[in-house]
Amino acid sequence: MNLLLKLSGYNAPTLENLVNSMPANTTSHNVDPKEIEKFSAMAEQWWDPEGDFKPLHMLNPTRLAYIEQGVDGLFAKSVVDVGCGGGILAESMAKQGAKVIGIDMAHASLQIARLHALETQSEVDYRKITAEEFAVQHAGQFDLVTCMEMLEHVPDPASIIQACSDMVKPGGFVYFSTINKTFKAYLMMILGAEHLLKWVPKGTHEYEKFIRPSQLLSAIDKTALNCEDLCGVEFNVLAGEFVITNNVNVNYMLRCQKL
Ligand code: SAH
Repeated sequence: MNLLLKLSGYNAPTLENLVNSMPANTTSHNVDPKEIEKFSAMAEQWWDPEGDFKPLHMLNPTRLAYIEQGVDGLFAKSVVDVGCGGGILAESMAKQGAKVIGIDMAHASLQIARLHALETQSEVDYRKITAEEFAVQHAGQFDLVTCMEMLEHVPDPASIIQACSDMVKPGGFVYFSTINKTFKAYLMMILGAEHLLKWVPKGTHEYEKFIRPSQLLSAIDKTALNCEDLCGVEFNVLAGEFVITNNVNVNYMLRCQKL
């Protein structure tokens, strides 16, 4: 190395340092900037239980229970929450004793998530990185990967599914949830929730990006994951809460295990 550089205390970067300092969006072909802008613009609302993310707050206890039951408890489990947003699910898993990393590509949402974790003294490690890049850096390292309400916002859901499969340990679990591509889902999620009830902002969802369970299952089949359970999630008006059902017409979740 040049002697002057050496004398000035310059240390040549190792290949590892160079790779780590590269912008996290080097594989951003699978990030839709419009989606990220949309969620960034709503970021302040993440923790308002009556705000734009009210449905996710209402859904959270139901999905948390479904996850906990399927993995035999969250205590001390290593978890990645892919597309974590403001951390509604990530924080609730950390409260159950899981060691959680939340990843998302919307900086503003991650900032809100970090602030909220400080306020509630929750320990979640939030990072801005794509699922694909994270999977390369942390292959086979996690007991559990959750990817909820996110696949319907990316250009190539199969690539996210592959990344989730790559992150999890053999024997570990991956959970997905998304919205079916049915007329009923259009009526409820777009016409109803966005236009009539105004529960969420107009444009939150696009019908074209909804995913049929058969499409999700065929993408899962191409990975090392095996789908063990598929269930519907419906709002029970009388109980005022989301419940797990057999009806996958609109919202649905599934649990996979890595072989
Ligand atoms: N999973 C959270 C948030 C769902 S909203 C929950 O269920 O509570 C969808 C989230 O996906 C948003 O936070 C958005 O920023 C994120 N997202 C969209 N495209 C993404 C991508 N390509 N990579 C990472 N996160 C993405």
